[in-house]
Amino acid sequence: MVALLTPLEAPVEPTEALRRIAFLLERNRAGTYRVEAFRNAVKALKEIGDDELEERVEAGTLQEIHGIGKSTSAVVEEAARGELPAYLESLQDKSGGPLASGGEDLYAALRGDCHLHSDWSDGGSPIDEMVLTGIELGHEWMVLTDHSPQLRVANGLTVERLTKQLAIVDAINRGVGEAFRLFKGIEVDILDDGALDQTDAMLAQLDLVTASVHSKLRMNSAPMTKRMVAAVLNPRVNVLGHCTGRLVEGSRGKRPQSDFDARAVFEACLEGDTAVEINSRPERQDPPDELIELALEIGCLFSIDSDAHAPGQLDMKAYGCERAERLGVPWDRIVTTWDADRLHAWANPSR
Ligand SMILES: [Zn+2]
Ligand SMILES: [Zn+2]
Repeated sequence: MVALLTPLEAPVEPTEALRRIAFLLERNRAGTYRVEAFRNAVKALKEIGDDELEERVEAGTLQEIHGIGKSTSAVVEEAARGELPAYLESLQDKSGGPLASGGEDLYAALRGDCHLHSDWSDGGSPIDEMVLTGIELGHEWMVLTDHSPQLRVANGLTVERLTKQLAIVDAINRGVGEAFRLFKGIEVDILDDGALDQTDAMLAQLDLVTASVHSKLRMNSAPMTKRMVAAVLNPRVNVLGHCTGRLVEGSRGKRPQSDFDARAVFEACLEGDTAVEINSRPERQDPPDELIELALEIGCLFSIDSDAHAPGQLDMKAYGCERAERLGVPWDRIVTTWDADRLHAWANPSR
C-alpha cells in the first residue's frame, strides 16, 4: 500500500481536485456534511460534461448547478484556470502528512482490507468510488462488507439487495482488470444466540464474512462468551470484527468494552480459523492492547481493517498498523498482508 498519496500539483482536473479534498477531509475525520459538499460536486460535474463546465466557468454561473456551492465553485474555477485550488493546497500542507507515526513498513506491506462499507448500507460513497480510491492507495484487493438486515439504522442489506450488490461487484471486477479484486462480503451481525443475521445460502455465495456484535453489547459475560464463540466457530465466519465494541473517543461518545471471556473467544478463533480484527478506527481502537497481546499469545490470525465508511477512511489502516507493529504482531499472521489468492483460499477452504 502506498504510505502517502503524492500531493497534487497544477494543473489539476476540477473533479480530481474535489475528490482529493474529500479524501483528505475524510482521512482526517471531518464531519460528513462538510465532505458531502465536495463529493456531491464531483457528481454534479460528471453530469454536465466538459463543454458546459467551460461555459459556466467563463460566465461565472457554476453555482446555478444543483450540488455546487460557494466553496466548491471556487475550487472548480481555480482548477479550470490551471491553478492549484487554494483550499486543496492548504489541506495538502496541513493534513496531507502521515496519520500515524510507527508502523509505516507494515502499512506498506498491507495488500487488502476485510471490512469497509459503501452507500448501500451506512457508508457515504458508492462502491466504485471506494474501489477507485482503494486502487489509488495501492490495494490489491478489498472485501465489500456492508451491514446485514437486522441493523436497520445502518440500512442493512436484505437477501434481495445483497444479491443485487453481488452482480455489481461482478461488473466492477470485469471493469478494473487483473491487478485488483473486489471480493464479495458482509459485516454480518452476530445475533443474541450466536447465529448470524443472514441466510446460510446467501453467506455461501460470499468470498469472506466479517462478523460483529452490534446489539445487546451489555449482555452478561457468560451468554456473551457463548454468543461470540458460536459465531467464530461458524465455518462461514472468517473475521471477528471490533470484538469488544468499545468506543474510546469521538462524536458518538464513549462506550465500555463488552464483558466476555477473551481467552475462550480467541481460542475458538484459533480453532475456527477466524482472524481477530484490529479495527483501525480511532474511536474504536479495538481490541485494546492487552487483548491483542492475548490473541497473539494464543496464536490467532489478525486482520488489520479500516472499517471505512468513506473512501478517505481506507487510509486509517495506518493507525492499526502502528498498534500491530508496536505490539509485535508478525506480518505473516496478518491476513491483510496476504495476496488475493492466498486470502481467498484461506477464506474458502472447501472451494
Ligand atoms: Zn461494525
Ligand atoms: Zn463496519
